[in-house]
Amino acid sequence: MSATMRRLTSVPECLEGKGGSESFASFIERLAAHQLVPAPVTTLLAATGLIAEDRYDALPAGYGIDLTPQQRRDFATVCDLSLDEVDSMLMRQFDGVAFDLTGLDVADASSVRTVAHREWAGFAGSACCPACLQENGGAWLLRWKLWTSFVCMEHCVLLVDRCPRCERRTGSYRADQGNRPRFATHVPMPGRCANSLAVGAAGTGKAARPCGQDLTCLPAVDLSDAARLLQAQQDVNAVIKRGTGQVAGEQVPALVYFRHLRSLVALALHGARVEDLGELPGPVRNALEDYILRRDDIRYGEAGRKGTSLHPYKAPPGDVRVIAATLPWAVEVLRQPDQLALTEALRPMIERSREVRGSQIRRVGVDFHFDGALEMALSRILAFRAPLRHTVGHLAPAGTGAYRTFRPEHVPHLIWRDDYERDFRPLLAGSGVGETAVRVAISVALVMLTGQHSRKSAVPLLGLEGLHKGTSLPVVMMHLNSTQQVEAFQTALHALADRLEGPGPHRDYRVAQRQLVAFRVVDTATWLNLGEAAGVQVSDREAQRRNAAAWVWAEVLSSDPALSPAMRGSTPQERESLLKCYRDFLHLHQAALEPALLEVVADIKVHLETQHRRFHALPGEGALLDR
Ligand SMILES: [Zn+2]
Ligand SMILES: [Zn+2]
Repeated sequence: MSATMRRLTSVPECLEGKGGSESFASFIERLAAHQLVPAPVTTLLAATGLIAEDRYDALPAGYGIDLTPQQRRDFATVCDLSLDEVDSMLMRQFDGVAFDLTGLDVADASSVRTVAHREWAGFAGSACCPACLQENGGAWLLRWKLWTSFVCMEHCVLLVDRCPRCERRTGSYRADQGNRPRFATHVPMPGRCANSLAVGAAGTGKAARPCGQDLTCLPAVDLSDAARLLQAQQDVNAVIKRGTGQVAGEQVPALVYFRHLRSLVALALHGARVEDLGELPGPVRNALEDYILRRDDIRYGEAGRKGTSLHPYKAPPGDVRVIAATLPWAVEVLRQPDQLALTEALRPMIERSREVRGSQIRRVGVDFHFDGALEMALSRILAFRAPLRHTVGHLAPAGTGAYRTFRPEHVPHLIWRDDYERDFRPLLAGSGVGETAVRVAISVALVMLTGQHSRKSAVPLLGLEGLHKGTSLPVVMMHLNSTQQVEAFQTALHALADRLEGPGPHRDYRVAQRQLVAFRVVDTATWLNLGEAAGVQVSDREAQRRNAAAWVWAEVLSSDPALSPAMRGSTPQERESLLKCYRDFLHLHQAALEPALLEVVADIKVHLETQHRRFHALPGEGALLDR
């Protein structure tokens, strides 16, 4: 301690509340204002050993961030504080927790600026809670400087971060000059805005005056009903306190947790729509809508230009309300119990991002610094092996994050003909895939909306195991992508899902398939009657009755005759000859016989339903179908 310094006689109590401790700059302000003869900040800094002379330009560069060991000891002695108390007021205490100060030298203003920018470290300016300022004699909590602080848990209000008088960020220190306080040669007024007034209103040089707005009486948005937002802030505060956080059920260092939060918030700022971010209180929602409008304006203005000036990762949002809109979503993504759940929670936002970036979607991971669990989720979402899930959008509409709830057994092997003709065929003209393969692919895609299914696991749910592999689906999706019809396909697919989730009855195609498992030929009597009804001379050859059975089977089950039991030869050669015989039958007789065959189809459908109902009413009765 140098000879010029003396122990201060009047030291305000260093605040240490539930919200953490007071910021260093705030303590200095109050210290200056509390002296018997209130003094300017520079005088106080000289008296406490922080600057050698009582001159503005002698202020330390990393003001409020850290002190040299000598400054720290002197300051503690003069103010009669413990070293721990001094440390608790410095941003350095969040090093390795909320940010990483590697490379920061408090004596070098440019290193301070670089690190602040890199880490979203919030050295300059601060949000505040007016009620807290009021209750604590104008003391500012250190934590309000962190970008992740948006709620006062004490008063359940949204923090305020803009002064209505000067329209600048509150608690502003000059980031361009190592975060030195403005008006350091004035006697500070705790609880009042110390920003400069707008140019013109403020005066310059020695005539310049601070804004002076009373911050303790500013209105703040009440969040006592916003449980999501309170919970998110509580989660974040707990991570700071513990020094560790949970991501997808795994414990990670706080620093990793905060990096993930930052990646997610930046991603949301980049692509989110209002409905993607969960329930929000009115003023927060309005601010988000404004943000999105401005963002999209810029984006459309720059459409077609290479690159964009929009890069949300580079700086934290300059509006606490926008943090309040995005951070809870980010916290909820990280809070998912396992990797799979985290992936699903992230998926809709990645899809949003895809709307913006198209084929550049993979850059998202680099631009938003995804690593660990987020990187894993992203690569799963973008995996080539799952072309359907991310292009079809397997989730229920409106981003509820839920799978569709209809039953896979209500989906036939081949998507219903009428729907196919009307909604899908036009999209798939020129895909080079045959009708049966396309219709199977659509059925597979539909089943995949009901859960965490791959094409492989969807095929058995459709009763197609051993019959069809649905391998055309990726080709279909590629065609839709290249013709930019994915959205139309999604819409048509989800319309089917809506119908299946609507009022029934819906046919159970798997039960019907089991009932018809032995249906290889139409019986002679039916066949002869059918020929008579159609006015066609038919012979009682088994081959003809088998062909008729294949046709009827496919109609009843909305399937393909080639998949029917009637066409299942014991060798590939036999099967091939059965199919050839069937094609000849179609060529010769289909037109004439179709009306009569359709009546048989209708009869069988009724018969199956009745059998099915009876079977379920009287278990043990036995046979399903006696054909
Ligand atoms: Zn408060
Ligand atoms: Zn102001």
